[in-house]
Amino acid sequence: MAFSYHPDLLAPYKLLDQGSSIQAECTITQKVTNLDQLPNWDFDGSSTNQAPGHDSDVYLRPVAYYKDPFRGGDNIIVLATTYNSDGTPNKTNFRHNAAKTMELAKEAVPWFGLEQEYTLFDVDDRPLAWPKGGFPGPQGPYYCGAGAGRVVARDLVEAHYRACLYAGIKISGINAEVMPSQWEFQVGPCEGISMGDELWIARYLLVRVAEQWGVKVSFHPKPLQGDWNGAGCHTNYSTKQMREPGGIQAIHEAIKKLEKRHDQHIAVYGEDNEQRLTGRYETGHISQFTAGVANRGASIRIPRHVNEKGYGYLEDRRPASNADPYRVTDIVVETTVWTRPH
Ligand code: ADP
Ligand code: MN
Ligand code: MN
Ligand code: MN
Ligand code: MN
Repeated sequence: MAFSYHPDLLAPYKLLDQGSSIQAECTITQKVTNLDQLPNWDFDGSSTNQAPGHDSDVYLRPVAYYKDPFRGGDNIIVLATTYNSDGTPNKTNFRHNAAKTMELAKEAVPWFGLEQEYTLFDVDDRPLAWPKGGFPGPQGPYYCGAGAGRVVARDLVEAHYRACLYAGIKISGINAEVMPSQWEFQVGPCEGISMGDELWIARYLLVRVAEQWGVKVSFHPKPLQGDWNGAGCHTNYSTKQMREPGGIQAIHEAIKKLEKRHDQHIAVYGEDNEQRLTGRYETGHISQFTAGVANRGASIRIPRHVNEKGYGYLEDRRPASNADPYRVTDIVVETTVWTRPH
């Protein structure tokens, strides 16, 4: 499995002196050390399906910023949320509600670690470096693999890893996945609303890095039909109580609450997830809630080491790779820490 890609034609321009100005998509005339220095902005929401043409201004409110690994120096990437002209959150803004939920639950100190699986495709929409007109050998030798014919595009994956570290993302690892050309990175543990922020930036950096390789990133939960694993976004979760000795009790209580709201969770765990949650290929079935120690065919897995120590965290294996992390973390906390008055 081999592929070629374009050199970085931009490289010499990135060495040019830029004085004291910094870039944050727009130019800012001084170094940013505080969120308040970033202006609110608006954009044409009708171009992005976020507003109708007759009332198209959507407002961007900066909520976090990160060091820009592409431009380097003092340049930054700004994460902003979207609001309509009447001040209500845009229909695509799931951060608004998640931030409220996290604020209400902050005494529980919720931590998350997300495992983002994704699949690489070439520009002609074929899985990257798969044999032309055929298939690689069946799954088995690829997961955490090494060597030509086993893994694809490790240099791209490493570049993304370093880009995340530079940006200050709490990326905690990477691994080659079960299906060839499928990879995973993990972000966490992150507290509260920062989990969604960091995962969105990490996804953005991945798409930007892959662009330089001439490679497409798919977050589809079942990118290929047939005997190939799907892609998920396993959600590892704990509260302060779960992390303390005896916390396994709190983990079991949380699992009971999660069971009662299985359908509500599935509804916000990503599009096309029914193609992935078939009860095969290391998943539980979409229509049935199950839980177990070290069970990768369950909705919720208690890692073996957590069960042995008697405290730690649980893993919700249901979210799809294309799930919005704000929606996932929001409902997990809502269900296990507090229940919204209806
Ligand atoms: P798996 O064995 O399922 O492949 P990974 O090693 O890929 O697990 O991911 C485990 C994730 O769990 C990491 O992102 C890590 O940061 C996260 N994690 C570890 N401890 C906790 C905790 N107490 N609460 C929440 N997440 C945690
Ligand atoms: Mn993993
Ligand atoms: Mn997997
Ligand atoms: Mn995985
Ligand atoms: Mn996992």
